[in-house]
Amino acid sequence: FSPIRIIGGGLAGSEAAWQIASAGVPVVIHEMRPVRETDAHKTEGLAELVCSNSFRSDDAENNAVGLLHAEMRRMGSLIMRMGDAHQVPAGGALAVDRDGFSQGVTAALEAHPLVTIAREEVAGLPPADWDNVIIATGPLTSPALAEGIRAITGETALAFFDAIAPIVHFETVNMDIAWFQSRYDKPGPGGTGADYINCPLTKDEYEAFVDALLAGDKTMFKEWEGTPYFDGCLPIEVMAERGRETLRWGPMKPVGLTNRHKPTEKAYAVVQLRQDNKLGTLFNMTGFQTKLKYGEQARVFRMIPGLENAEFARLGGIHRNTYLNSPKMLDETLRLKVEPRLRFAGQITGCEGYVESAAIGGLVGRFAAAERLGLEARLPPVTTAHGALINHITGGHMTTIDEGPRSFQPMNVNFGLFPPLEQSPTKGPDGVRLRGTAKTQARKQALSARALVDLEAWLGETRLAAAE
Ligand code: FAD
Repeated sequence: FSPIRIIGGGLAGSEAAWQIASAGVPVVIHEMRPVRETDAHKTEGLAELVCSNSFRSDDAENNAVGLLHAEMRRMGSLIMRMGDAHQVPAGGALAVDRDGFSQGVTAALEAHPLVTIAREEVAGLPPADWDNVIIATGPLTSPALAEGIRAITGETALAFFDAIAPIVHFETVNMDIAWFQSRYDKPGPGGTGADYINCPLTKDEYEAFVDALLAGDKTMFKEWEGTPYFDGCLPIEVMAERGRETLRWGPMKPVGLTNRHKPTEKAYAVVQLRQDNKLGTLFNMTGFQTKLKYGEQARVFRMIPGLENAEFARLGGIHRNTYLNSPKMLDETLRLKVEPRLRFAGQITGCEGYVESAAIGGLVGRFAAAERLGLEARLPPVTTAHGALINHITGGHMTTIDEGPRSFQPMNVNFGLFPPLEQSPTKGPDGVRLRGTAKTQARKQALSARALVDLEAWLGETRLAAAE
């Protein structure tokens, strides 16, 4: 076989290379460090963790990222093997000795007879005779390659910052206060006229909310991040700084809406939440991109009536992040539609975090190897954490409403991305009716159990080896 080429030896590229080599296919990793540095990496090691040393929760029963760990271990993941080998104490989380971890990944790949590591930047689109390529260059993709990608995908296909509004689990919204309605009852494309959740604020509640936003602790941009306020995507606290009424004329406009619970009372301001996935389990706070610190966001946003007990699938943020508008640009095995010899993997596809990037790297490595071996590239079931994540990336999560180029935002894995259970558990093992947290926990455990059964079946059906 001629080798598969991987550009970028980060979390995704390293896992992809391992899966490809494990399938008996030769692979070359082109990693630009140390020849060319990024603004965040500090070493020349593969799979360097640029910030925290945590892979987050390792609880496979109750936590979606813990489940992803479990699935990756079952798929023979190098990132998880080295994570486990270099673990440091961190309670229920899996945290690692970052240097030992990165050195372990580098050594394992260097020692594999089918892996070659070339220390060079791919400064533009890969040469035309590279027929099976994985681009895994991450949030800090070098400008020359980013420009090459942009040239074939178009102006709006590649973003350089994410501007993320918080996403809330629907089941935690108090619908005795909030109600479904689109402004002026107008149905958007594919919508019903009741597509948004509306949370009403009185004048006093609005004033208190603006005060809390102004006083809230904010994250500062790093020097190299510049000031990325663009396309009218201002953080809400910056809007509030421009005038106390700005939000009421912007994302918190109360017009065209009637409170279903109190039809005679006119709300002074309204926060709207838009459906974020087809399943209707997640809703994003429209126009609420923010640089408030995470703890502050949870506290301040729970001041909004209807969101007093909100649980967040992800909090808002604005970061330097190069990523594709994947639902439009990529096919189901993450090949670029306009140039299918190029696959994408890792954070550049619109997943978020070390573990998610590595998981997508592993899957894409398997897809690329299957192609080289003349085998079918089978997708994991959407009921698994891997399947739910790739479904998010390829747009299976998107509603038909408002599929503008800006509506795709990176996301960590979370149970809101999974199809609901056919029947949620209602009673515990002791026969007692489940309520509140116990009910939520039982649901997560059932989702996890279903995922692992479905993953095993998929792995059993997916032959992937040069010898076969
Ligand atoms: P990376 O791990 O970044 O790997 C990409 C690799 O490609 C790099 O080694 C780079 O040198 C190489 N490369 C780039 N361009 C080229 C080119 N043209 N030719 C050859 N090689 C190239 N995630 C967390 O889970 N926790 C955190 O605390 C966290 N903090 C972060 C802080 C910062 C400042 C940033 C930028 C990101 C952070 N992330 C964090 C996100 C995390 O870095 C990514 O999720 C993860 O590293 C993505 O993996 P990846 O393989 O897609 O990209």
